Amino acid sequence: MVTLHKPVRMCVSCRERKDKSQLSRYTIQSGTLTEDKNHNQQTRGIYICSTQCLENYSKRKSKSKKKGKQQ
Ligand SMILES: [Zn+2]
Repeated sequence: MVTLHKPVRMCVSCRERKDKSQLSRYTIQSGTLTEDKNHNQQTRGIYICSTQCLENYSKRKSKSKKKGKQQ
């Protein structure tokens, strides 16, 4: 058995596990996805591996918003 000491995070879009350095960290501030380049945001962060995944994630997010409790 090998124990991995690398910090691994999961991309919220494709759910692949990758080295933390390969992922971009984002935070959600008042409903908007903002890249947390300095990793200094106190809010809960999410990790995304590529711009494609970022697109997919925000698309999915806006879809589920429309489904919401508007009626
Ligand atoms: Zn991904």
